[in-house]
Parts: sequence; structure tokens; C-alpha cells
Amino acid sequence: MHVVIIGNGVAGMEAALQIRAEAPDAGVTLVSEESDHFFSRTALMWVHSGQMSHRDIEPLERDAYVRHGFTRVRGRVVSLDAASKRLTLGDGETLDYDKLLIACGSRPRPGPWRGSDLRGVGHFVTLQDLEWYERELHGGPSHAGRPPRPDQHVPSSRPDSPYLPREAAAEARGSLSKRPAVIGGGLIGIEAVEVAHGKGLHPHFFIRDEWFWPMAIDATEAAWITERMRAHGVHVHLQHEVEHLEGDAQGNLTAVVTNHGRFEVDCAVVAIGVVPNTQWLADSGVALDAGGGVVVDAQQRTNVPDVFAAGDCASVRWSTGAQRPEQLWYTGRDQGRVAARAMLGQTGHAATYRRPTWYNSAKLMDIEYTTVGFVNMNQPGEREWFFEERGAVRSTTRIVHTDTGVIGFNLLGRRWDHSVLMEFIDAGRSLAYVLDHLHEAAFDTELVPPLVLPREAR
Ligand SMILES: Cc1cc2nc3c(=O)[nH]c(=O)nc-3n(C[C@H](O)[C@H](O)[C@H](O)COP(=O)(O)OP(=O)(O)OC[C@H]3O[C@@H](n4cnc5c(N)ncnc54)[C@H](O)[C@@H]3O)c2cc1C
Repeated sequence: MHVVIIGNGVAGMEAALQIRAEAPDAGVTLVSEESDHFFSRTALMWVHSGQMSHRDIEPLERDAYVRHGFTRVRGRVVSLDAASKRLTLGDGETLDYDKLLIACGSRPRPGPWRGSDLRGVGHFVTLQDLEWYERELHGGPSHAGRPPRPDQHVPSSRPDSPYLPREAAAEARGSLSKRPAVIGGGLIGIEAVEVAHGKGLHPHFFIRDEWFWPMAIDATEAAWITERMRAHGVHVHLQHEVEHLEGDAQGNLTAVVTNHGRFEVDCAVVAIGVVPNTQWLADSGVALDAGGGVVVDAQQRTNVPDVFAAGDCASVRWSTGAQRPEQLWYTGRDQGRVAARAMLGQTGHAATYRRPTWYNSAKLMDIEYTTVGFVNMNQPGEREWFFEERGAVRSTTRIVHTDTGVIGFNLLGRRWDHSVLMEFIDAGRSLAYVLDHLHEAAFDTELVPPLVLPREAR
């Protein structure tokens, strides 16, 4: 059997490894337009900030393809002929499969405004975005020990590819960015802000909403994060709708114009979300949801025989009944494993994807952040227990619960072991039980005084 996997991100690579573990003789070909090697997209900011080298964010040894007997094809898939089980690449080459896994991830949502194609405007999602943003802010790679990456440009790439290298305004102008901007208040946005701040700059941060990241954070929590951003010199602009971007005669970005005025900037990261990377499937017969996600069932099967999808590009069924992609690292990993087993003809529990309890953690400026379960999801009958600590440690504890038990946690300022919090949710623990046992999830570093919760809170 020959399995072709489009994408060597976490979903594609986990699927390949699973197939190899269970079917030593299967042929496995991985096609990737973006990079030769699997890397951790979640760690782009650490490379930009110079704290890690590019090699540091590659989870596997570079000989992984050889050791596991995977064939690597570096190029862009441009069409699928499902009837003849054939893929066509940008350079005209074709690739036949017995089973196909589409794991082609997300691309940044482009700015809808006039001027979004000016030099100096970019994103922070792909490796090519990282290289561009490094050149704007640092004039080149930010990590001195980073090895050069040959073969970065794939000739078969098309002009609309999110993996094309692009010019930097810093080079055209002959000076590095001094007034960067980030448009879009979510996780990728704040990471783009943080790396600019790490470079000693004072970026403008344009957020359309009333507060930062309303999808995940409430008004009180966001007020604290905004306070920290401002204390670090970030110009946070809340409730600013971008109207257009302005450039000079040479096509370099010069300003962001919002409903509140004109702001001079020389570089802008557009971080207004990502969309499935699936335009090339338009005429393939593979069913897509309204947002372009590849619709799959619980075995990661599409509507087309022998074609599966996993990761950011796959539209899965949520526990709320909605059908849409989950753009998360660990769910992509899990979906890749399930798809591999299903492609090998397995059935049952191991070949069935069940959305696990959601979790994520990050550091937002200097504030630790952990979220688990249903938060800001307006679940029926939900109530919130909230406590703000302002002592030797500043923290907020928000626990979402219903009559059936605790369903979510949003925790800022301290470190928590998400696996313990997941157990509380999965076991249907009551709020009273969780308050008594929350210390079991504490993951603070040595010498940090423990959190003492009052019995009553908001
Ligand atoms: C800055 C940033 C921070 C993040 N932080 C977090 C976090 O804290 N926690 C979390 O859970 N998630 C986070 N995410 C999301 C997470 O990184 C993604 O959900 C995950 O990497 C998606 O993996 P994937 O394998 O589905 O796709 P991808 O990693 O996008 O891989 C898809 C691959 O497909 C290939 N490809 C695409 N189209 C084609 C084509 N036509 N032909 C050939 N090859 C193609 C490309 O080579 C690409 O590398 C973050 C994302 C970003 C950008």
C-alpha cells in the first residue's frame, strides 16, 4: 500500500509515524511545500526572539525520513483527481496513491483592506512569515547559531502560496523597522507584539474588540493583560477598526488608518485569524464546509473513498454539534494518529476521533495563562466562580461550572498542571470539590507562595 500525506506538520508527521509503527512495509510519501523538516509552529516566537535556533524547534532528528523509510517530496500539490487517485504538483509531476491524507494546515487570513499588499505587511504563521518578520526587525536571522536553510524557495509554488518568500520593507528602505504594528488581538497577535517588544520596540497593537482576545479572556482578565502590555510600552488601541493601509511611492508601508486616526508605522503583522489551506481542492469533489475545512467523520474520512483529512484543515464534529476545524497542535496530533489507523483499515476506539477536553497554556507578556475546558462558550446553565489575588503573587482564578459539575478553568498569573484540571472536568467534580483540591494542580516554581482561596468569591 502506498500512502501519500500532504503536509509534514504535526498531523501529517504523526500519521506517518503511526503508519510506520503499525505497517512496517507500507510506502509512505510526505509532500511539503513549506519546509524539508517537521517543525513546531507553536514555537516560531522563540526563534524570532533569538531564544531558540531553528533546529531547536524541530521535534525529530533530521534523518527521520531515512530512518523510517519515508519518501520526501518538496513541492506544492495543485490538484486532486480522485477518480484516478492521482495528485498533480505545481511543476506538472504527478503522484499516485492508494490512500491519501490531506494534512495541509492553515494559511493566514489576508488583510481585507486597501494596502494589504504593500511591502512591509505580512503575517506570523509560516516559516516564510518568520523569515520576513525577522528581516524587518533584525535584518536577518535572529539566532546566530541558526544553520542556513537551502532550498527554501520551491519553484512549483504559486503566487498565492502562503509559503513564498517575500521582500522586506526594511531592505527596500535600508533601515530596520522602528515602528511596527500588529493588527488583530488574538494569540498570534500578542506573540507578534511580544517579539517586537523583545527587540526593544514599542509596537502599535490594533484590536477591533472591546478587549484583548474576547474568545478566550474576559474583561477583567484582559484589563490586566492590557495594563501589562502598556507598562511594557506597547501602544494598545482597543476598538480600532482598520480602514486602510498607506504606502509611499516605492510601495513601502507608511501608516495604518483606523476609525480613530492615522498611525505612522513601517511594518505590520496582520494576525486576524487563519483559514484552511484548501483552495486547491475546489474542483476535486472533496466536500468542504463553508469556511473551506475538509469535512470528515470520526474516522477522519472525507466523502471521497480513500481520502482522509486531519489537523488544521479538517472540519470535525464538536461536542456542541458544530462542524468546523480545531486549529490546535495536540488535536492535530490526535487526528493524525486516528487517520493513520483508519487508513490501515482499523476500526473501533483507536481509529475513532473524540474531541478531548480542550486545554492550552501560554505566557501573555509576563503573565502565565492556562485554560482548560469550556470557557467563554456560553454553555447552558453555566455560572462563574472568580477570585483575584493581589498579594505577593497577582493571579486570577475563573472556574466555570454548571449543576453537573465544573466545566472550565481560566487561570492567569500562576502555573497549573492542565492534566489535573482535565481530570476534575472529566470526572464531573463539583465546584466545592475543586476548590478543596485545586492545590493538586498547582505547578508553580519553587518559593512561590501557594494560592489561598476564599470560600466566597464573585
Ligand atoms: C504563531 C502560532 C502560535 C501557535 N500557538 C499554539 C499554541 O500555543 N497551542 C496550540 O495548540 N496551537 C497553537 N498554534 C496552532 C498550531 O500550530 C497548529 O494548529 C498546528 O501546527 C497545525 O498543524 P497541521 O499539521 O494541521 O498543519 P501545519 O503545521 O500547517 O502543516 C501543514 C503543512 O502542509 C503543507 N502544505 C500545505 N498546502 C500544501 C500543498 N498545497 N502542497 C504541498 N504541501 C502543502 C505545508 O508544507 C505545511 O507545512 C499556533 C499557531 C501559530 C501560527
